[in-house]
Amino acid sequence: MTGNNERSRVLIVDDSVDIHRLLKIRLRDQNLDIITASTAAEGLRLARQVLPDLVLLDIDLPDKSGFEMLGEIKADPATHDLAVIFVSGSVDSQDKVRGFDLGAVDYVTKPFDMAELRARVRSALRTQRLVRMLAQRAHLDGLTGLWNRAHLDVRLSECVDAARRHGRHLSLVMADIDHFKQLNDTYGHPFGDHVLQEMANMLEEIARSEDIVCRYGGEEFAVILCETDHVEATKVAQRFRSRIEGAIWQEHERLRVTASFGVSSLSLLTIKSPEALLNSTDTALYEAKRTGRNHVVVAAPQEKVHLNAPHSRSA
Ligand code: GH3
Ligand code: MG
Ligand code: MG
Repeated sequence: MTGNNERSRVLIVDDSVDIHRLLKIRLRDQNLDIITASTAAEGLRLARQVLPDLVLLDIDLPDKSGFEMLGEIKADPATHDLAVIFVSGSVDSQDKVRGFDLGAVDYVTKPFDMAELRARVRSALRTQRLVRMLAQRAHLDGLTGLWNRAHLDVRLSECVDAARRHGRHLSLVMADIDHFKQLNDTYGHPFGDHVLQEMANMLEEIARSEDIVCRYGGEEFAVILCETDHVEATKVAQRFRSRIEGAIWQEHERLRVTASFGVSSLSLLTIKSPEALLNSTDTALYEAKRTGRNHVVVAAPQEKVHLNAPHSRSA
């Protein structure tokens, strides 16, 4: 048991299959899905693929030390928050200090006392669950339940890296409710909050499950669309726009709420960075505001910058 009924995933990395077998048997009643690896390379691959809740890591591995493997886990943004317990034959306090300094949450020596190991596993899983919950909460917007700007910044950066690495499309849509200040002034702040919540629902309703819908700030929203070019992203933005315009507001039937949209895509940019994508989308949104609101503007393709213009070349 780990505090609730959710099953936790534990990765055991140890070159001894006897240890795999022993731990699997002795942790059988702990509501865990256990996977095993015999080398650091296999362990790293599984850690990235499965993102386990806990790793039980031996120090003596055939291909590299557990210390080195933990260093790699911590260096990779995808795995750096994994909880790792060293399970080692070494009782040397210097090894223990090194393990903790590298970021391990615990250090257990072999041969282990099973009751103690089980308690330490439960304790590490409890803490890990709390850490993950807090980390997720820090990335959620309290009013709408959407991801917040901090999350957008992290994910946009990851998505830009991935899109560049694999040569894939990536688009960003930004939305800003029109004359929202006036809506607040006319109908009151609580109704304004209700409109923001409904806006969030409408965006989520239309977005695909893999799209990342965020509240960017006050009455601004941003949606990251992976593997989507600017033509498709524009269609999505048009669907958002018309859904919002068509919404009926029970309390105020004659009210029409509208929003303006900016769309940009990595393929339109010369410098393909998260900042450039945000700026370009924001400029398109500003253009939508400037040219009458309640419509979608796509960023203009940027001119190619001639880094090696003939006049700058040495003869
Ligand atoms: P525009 O069409 O140019 O976008 O005009 P606007 O009035 O929508 O834009 P402006 O930036 O002038 O005003 C945004 C308003 O959004 C002002 C602010 O009080 C309101 N706002 C920001 N956050 C919240 C919130 O959480 N709840 C409510 N009810 N209002 C908010
Ligand atoms: Mg605004
Ligand atoms: Mg606005």
